[in-house]
Amino acid sequence: MPAPLIAGNWKMHATVAAATRLAREVVAAAADTEVELVLAPPFTALGPVAAVVAGSGIGVAAQDMHWADAGAFTGEISPPMVAEHARYVILGHSERRQLFSESDEDVNRKVHAAFAHDLTPIVCVGETEAERDAGRTDDVVTGQLEAAIEGIAPDEAGRLVVAYEPVWAIGTGRACAPDEASRVAGLLRHHLALRFGGAAAVGARVLYGGSVKPDNSHAYLAAPDVDGALVGGASLDAGAFAAIAATARP
Ligand code: PEP
Repeated sequence: MPAPLIAGNWKMHATVAAATRLAREVVAAAADTEVELVLAPPFTALGPVAAVVAGSGIGVAAQDMHWADAGAFTGEISPPMVAEHARYVILGHSERRQLFSESDEDVNRKVHAAFAHDLTPIVCVGETEAERDAGRTDDVVTGQLEAAIEGIAPDEAGRLVVAYEPVWAIGTGRACAPDEASRVAGLLRHHLALRFGGAAAVGARVLYGGSVKPDNSHAYLAAPDVDGALVGGASLDAGAFAAIAATARP
């Protein structure tokens, strides 16, 4: 069984000075953690944060990337650029899908590019409130997962991280009920098993994300099929992030 993973998505917060300060605080606050921690700062702070956490066991993730190695794509960041600093990359976050029109096909190209550059993708899937109300949650999340992993190899599936992030729970304080998060995580793992076999489904990690805080994290992290958390707002406070990590089973 892979170790639980707690990833902090700092989104568009923190200059280099603020990001390196926060990273130093996380290193100090989480020195005794027995779970895997990953920090996802903005692109400009990837290198500086990687330097701060070097040797601490804490990993670094990019929040997105383009799929091409190089080219005329103004404003984009390539997989080799990310791989200079990070071992993980968050892909298909709902904010990318909703605010920047990222498609399932884009996410799939990026997943292939991640594996080609030895980056572990953290693939986000999740339904909107309207989709949940219409009873479409399972179809939406399995459809997003299927599309994202189309064409990958079984050994790659076994290294995948999938984050179940109901869109209505992100940044709203309306966290999904732990039983429901666990049910959907189990559904996603079942799909990996059907598609790639049991070994891949056991190796892959399924995270829950959406208003995870120190006072509710234990319920998610103790739930069957939930292997960790993707944390947004609370990850900007080193004490809160370390407190969440402390509630994860090693
Ligand atoms: C996120 O954006 O991935 C997220 C889970 O945010 P929050 O924890 O703030 O809901």
